[in-house]
Amino acid sequence: MDWECVLQGIEASVEPMRGQGKVADYIPALAAVDPRKFGLAVVLGDGTQSCLGDADELFSIQSISKVFTLSMALRVVGDTLWERVGREPSGSPFNSIVQLEHERGIPRNPLINAGAIVVTDHLVERLGSSKTIAELLDRIRRLADDDSIKVDQAVAESESLAGERNRALASFMKSYGNIKCPVEETLAAYFCHCSIAMTCRQLARAALFLAFDGCDPISGQQMVSSQACRRINAVMMSCGHYDNSGDFTYRIGLPGKSGVGGGILVIAPRHGAVAVWSPGLNQAGTSAVGSLALEALVKATGWSVFV
Ligand code: GLN
Repeated sequence: MDWECVLQGIEASVEPMRGQGKVADYIPALAAVDPRKFGLAVVLGDGTQSCLGDADELFSIQSISKVFTLSMALRVVGDTLWERVGREPSGSPFNSIVQLEHERGIPRNPLINAGAIVVTDHLVERLGSSKTIAELLDRIRRLADDDSIKVDQAVAESESLAGERNRALASFMKSYGNIKCPVEETLAAYFCHCSIAMTCRQLARAALFLAFDGCDPISGQQMVSSQACRRINAVMMSCGHYDNSGDFTYRIGLPGKSGVGGGILVIAPRHGAVAVWSPGLNQAGTSAVGSLALEALVKATGWSVFV
């Protein structure tokens, strides 16, 4: 594949759209990000990296962290995880509380806020809040082969100060017995993992194991079992973009996960991993220009899980 040509085509198709969408401002620290930023990185199984625009600029990975906490929890906790969180698309906004009452405090899936808070609670129950973050960072740094990756403390503080909705979700689930640790302890870890700052290049590199049956093709490390890897991809495919998941799958045809920082991670099984960043969001909280760039990428590469 002529990657230079593929990237040039993507750049040309997103250029007129640059700055589209609305930057998340409910977390004040994210509101200041320049909406015209755009970066994209593709990392292939042989380690080849192809990058575009602001691919080496740090951004807040936000909900994309939920893929890494889910991977870690499937290893640390195992399948009992699914007793406290479902795996159905929610069809609702990422921070919705309504289904929790009907479903007795069991969130629909691990990639919406409520579900990710339960996954985090599982980890905090076993490891405590600081060790959960330390181990998660250690895994991500090893995967990305970059020790500089860290939590942006200013974003974490800002999230905590503006975190009433997440406090409501956690307290509500606790009233059903589905949060085991003190709410603030679990949320401290949740806010920190959402506030990890990474570049597109680091993110695509760190997620490469998900494209190769759970085994990082460069280091040879088995990060999750092959079965767990397929399941994580399945959950990303059906639930990775909240109430935009069906449309994303229709347009892109690959498992992915978006975050309100404007990042989207996409897995192309047996090919590689892609990370794109553009802060302007559509109504469901998925990067508007990022999705367009991914549409252009799958068109140019022919990548799809349906071929
Ligand atoms: N940290 C954000 C929150 O809890 C994550 C949301 C997202 O990226 N969709 O609201």
